[in-house]
Parts: sequence; structure tokens; C-alpha cells
Amino acid sequence: MNWIDTHSHIYLPDFDTDRKETMQRCLDSGVAKILLPNIDLTSIDAMHQLKLNYADQVDMMMGIHPCSIDSNYVDLLDRIEKILHKDTYYGIGEIGLDLYWDKSTQRYQEDAFRTQLSWSIALDLPVSIHSREATEESLQIVEAFGGRIKGVFHCFSGSREQAQRVADMGMYLGIGGVLTYKKSELPAIVENLGASWIVLETDAPYLSPVPHRGRRNESSYIPVIGERLAEVLSFSIEKVARVTTENARKIYYPNAKVQTI
Ligand SMILES: [Zn+2]
Repeated sequence: MNWIDTHSHIYLPDFDTDRKETMQRCLDSGVAKILLPNIDLTSIDAMHQLKLNYADQVDMMMGIHPCSIDSNYVDLLDRIEKILHKDTYYGIGEIGLDLYWDKSTQRYQEDAFRTQLSWSIALDLPVSIHSREATEESLQIVEAFGGRIKGVFHCFSGSREQAQRVADMGMYLGIGGVLTYKKSELPAIVENLGASWIVLETDAPYLSPVPHRGRRNESSYIPVIGERLAEVLSFSIEKVARVTTENARKIYYPNAKVQTI
């Protein structure tokens, strides 16, 4: 089976001691591609280094995470935009709103989010959207672009109605370890929505699926999340792999042949 992890920070220092082994475990588990969303200026070098070392296994995105937005964001965006034009990136990410950690920067976050969404239109790239305690705010900002944004609401944590609004825009829900948690409402939402608008992700090193919950997450756990999705949708694991990989391919590799992923 072939899987794609659509959101992983495997370039972070959490993997410095055993990155090689971790990347091998990904291949062994059938995770053939890993999309790397950037975080801020400090993460770019490590992400590029990973791309140099594992050119076939990983592809990069560029953007600024909402938690890294402060009053200097205009200058920051300027620098990121220049970097964006210097290399090959498969998406704009991760971008969005985080009102859990810091509400005081909400206006800056919203402005930075809109700017980065407009880059995605100009460059015809998908986005990886982070929204924490801000699903409604994020949705409204994306909806205001009138269906011109494509990509993924990563680590989706909204309601059934909000999930439908994502799909109505032709966008996807990024589903990860939370699907395996006992009290999660995600299984019901995913079952209702169906597989057509789902992609898998780990968000490694965060949000490990059961039975790895509480420990470092890694991209080789994608099939664990896939197994739970198979249960929720009453699909075979093969069908889950096929459908989610095809969805991820449509978003991030629209011009590639299936066999190459
Ligand atoms: Zn992330």
C-alpha cells in the first residue's frame, strides 16, 4: 500500500538523534511521500536540509504559522515571500489562525492569513491551514475568497456543519491521530462526510495516534490512522490507502502520474 503524510514536521530537532531510522520506518510502512509545512524563519534551514537528504521522500511548503505572527508580521511576510520564489514548494503552509495560544495577535494573524491565501491564488498552490479554536473565523476568511482557495484544513477540529462547508468549497479535511482518541467527535463527522474530502496526516512530532498517544509522533504511523479510518468508514484498509492517497495527489501533485507517488 502507498500512503502520503500530508503534514509532518519531521525536520524539527525532535528527530535529530534518529532521523535516518525514522525516515526508513516511513518507507517500510508504505508512506512514500511526506509533505513538510514550514513554521517560521527558524525552521527553514532544517526543512531544506531534509529535502536535500531525502529528495524523493519529502516535499516542502512555505508559509508562516499563526503562532509565529507578531506586530512585525509585515516584514516577516516580506521575507517569506522572497524565499517562496527561490525554491520549489508544493503548497503554502502552515498558515491560519490560532486563538488558543494568543488572542492578542488576532488582527495580525487574520491579515497575515489573508496575505498568504492570496499568494496561493497567485502561485496556483494549495494551502495547509492551521486553525485552533478558530474554525469559524478561519472558514469565513477562506469563504470570502469565493472558492478560489484549494487545499486542506489540517487537523480539522470543527463541527459537522463546518466540515460540510470545507467540502462545499472543494477543500479537504486533514485527519490525524485525533481520529483514534476515545472522546473524539471526528469519527462521526468523517463518517457523515465520506472519504472524498479526507486526507491523512500525522502532524509529527505532535498528536500521536493511539497506541502511541503521549509519545513522539512520526509519519510511519499514518497506516495506524488509516486503520481507524477504515473502521469508521467500513472500508478495507486498501481502499482507505487508495482513496486518501488519490485525494492527496489531486491536491499536492495535480500534474503527476499516480505511479510516481
Ligand atoms: Zn503542523
